Amino acid sequence: MSTWHILGAGSLGGLWAARLARAGLPVRLILRDQTRLSQYRAAGGLTLVEDGFASLYPIPAEVPGSAIPIRRLLLACKAYDAEEAVAELAPRLAPGAEIILLQNGLGSQDAVANRVPRAHCVFASSTEGAFRESDFRVVYAGRGQTWLGVPGERRAPDWLEQLQTAGINHDWSDEILEKLWRKLALNCAINPLTVLHDCRNGGLRDWPDEVAGLCEELSELLHACGQGAAASDLHQDVLRVIDGTAANFSSMYQDVARGRRTEISYLLGYALREAQRLQLDLPRLDDLLQRLREHLTVRGLPVD
Ligand code: NAP
Repeated sequence: MSTWHILGAGSLGGLWAARLARAGLPVRLILRDQTRLSQYRAAGGLTLVEDGFASLYPIPAEVPGSAIPIRRLLLACKAYDAEEAVAELAPRLAPGAEIILLQNGLGSQDAVANRVPRAHCVFASSTEGAFRESDFRVVYAGRGQTWLGVPGERRAPDWLEQLQTAGINHDWSDEILEKLWRKLALNCAINPLTVLHDCRNGGLRDWPDEVAGLCEELSELLHACGQGAAASDLHQDVLRVIDGTAANFSSMYQDVARGRRTEISYLLGYALREAQRLQLDLPRLDDLLQRLREHLTVRGLPVD
């Protein structure tokens, strides 16, 4: 049975690692460097807090330069770290190695696939929620679903059964790009506005015209990209998410509030690069990106 190598013992990586390990599956964490590895060993392993109960999982860990070959890799870093992280592991990838990409947004998946063309990349889109309470201590904040798929491939891989065993809710999707585009569109319609208006998701009820205008342009973009299905009822869905998560702060809001780099380049930035490629004029989305970049610059945060 192939070992699950997991790069990134952060929120989502930790959540997957703990559940796979407790199901008795072979898991190894890949940490950034020797310093992180020493810190991890001092912590005694990875802690997952679930329903208020904390459990420690002493999962073996290593650094990227280890000599152990990799047959299955779960890439659980942020989108902006993905390509470089995989490049570092390239010499260790066995022929036909599988890489499962948990990154939000679009753009990083292609960058990874181009960097390691002989690997078999599986894209994922997840509605699970987890956050890091401290280093190597992850809180499972919201149960959700993970869709996995390879564009153009209908047959699900055998290892999906292992996710079942580990209690990881998942589905194989023949239309994984549609799922990723839909999530990207929802994100573009909600997250930047919560940052700019300094509000929880529910606060966007005060800006109905702005939300509607963005949905209109996002639908236009999705149709132009050949992702018309991802545009269906987009505005209604955005309003549903705003109501359903009214008390939550969006992930982008939280990143900015904590002074952390956002993934905008793989969300709104990606959407606008696609629009430019297709020669589509989307003034509201353009203006949104401009305002967001100004907001990030003032706070000393990267604009990509
Ligand atoms: P996170 O908590 O910041 O964790 C990322 C981890 O990647 C960190 O532990 C970081 O290590 C590690 N990392 C980065 N570069 C590395 C490298 N070269 N070698 C080894 N480790 C490296 O991020 P996250 O929230 O899990 O998000 C991961 C992806 O999942 C993002 O694209 C996010 O949008 C998506 N996602 C997250 C959630 C969620 O609820 N958290 C839900 C859906 C989708 P250090 O600790 O050393 O910095």
